[in-house]
Amino acid sequence: MNKIAVIGAGTMGAGIAQASALAGYQVVLYDVAEAMLTLSLGGIRASIDKGVARGKTAADVAEAAKSAIETTTSLETAAQADLIIEAAPEKLDLKREIFATLDAAAPEKTIFGSNTSSLSINALAGSVKRPDRFLGVHFFNPAHIMQLVELIRGDFTSEATLAAVQAFVARLGKTAVLCQDTPAFIVNRVARPFYGEAFRLLGENAADPATIDKLMRSVGFRMGPFELIDLIGCDVNLAVTQSVYDAYFQEPKYRPHPIQKRMVESGRLGRKTGRGFYEHEI
Ligand code: NAD
Repeated sequence: MNKIAVIGAGTMGAGIAQASALAGYQVVLYDVAEAMLTLSLGGIRASIDKGVARGKTAADVAEAAKSAIETTTSLETAAQADLIIEAAPEKLDLKREIFATLDAAAPEKTIFGSNTSSLSINALAGSVKRPDRFLGVHFFNPAHIMQLVELIRGDFTSEATLAAVQAFVARLGKTAVLCQDTPAFIVNRVARPFYGEAFRLLGENAADPATIDKLMRSVGFRMGPFELIDLIGCDVNLAVTQSVYDAYFQEPKYRPHPIQKRMVESGRLGRKTGRGFYEHEI
């Protein structure tokens, strides 16, 4: 495997592209929005430079990684890769449409992976004629730093596909954990109450976001729920909550909170828009 395509140049796509380039892969970064590609590439370069300044990345590795990333707004160009990782918005129909287009344009050997946080891998694999070469490849945010990657097998994912992607994850220096195709897999499923109870506390005026975050940090969490949601994106967090709620046939314990909806409707998406539960520089 030499060439990796990443579909969607947002928070996760940028991190996956950076991690792949630093591991020596050729990377094609695709987005529908030219402006996102420019923004994302600038962010990746700055982040790689930061790694050099901190002594974590050798200068020659950094230069090679920066020149290994090309950008495109053509899905057909992106389709010419050995492994395609989709990191587009968390919407089933949109992702299925992207995969169907890629399926028609990609060489037979190309493996398809989705970075979905919660959607069914089988439902996504149903959009292509190569379900044996389809799986979930779920990175965590920030993708160039976090060590864990969940690999989710669909009903038809082949052993060869799994082995090829396990080798890819290992070359990135990350640890792959094999998951079943259950809603939100392992980590995001376990994390549901972390967000849900925080929203209920906030909705009941028990405490403000900064106080709740500080309390959670004081008992050992690296980040509190609201600062983590600002990092994830309030829109992504709501989409994942809604997806898990629907996947369990409107199970009340997974119900989204009106505050989540209000944050998204008012454009307070977190770090990516400069404002969420906190103010951020962009
Ligand atoms: P994001 O909103 O930061 O970025 C999404 C990108 O997709 C944007 O650049 C947008 O221009 C682009 N896009 C829109 N329509 C598109 C299309 N038709 N084709 C290709 N690109 C398109 O979102 P994100 O946080 O990077 O999330 C992407 C995926 O990764 C989602 O499935 C999400 O659930 C998953 N994920 C997110 C996180 C997180 O913490 N944010 C963590 C793990 C997984």
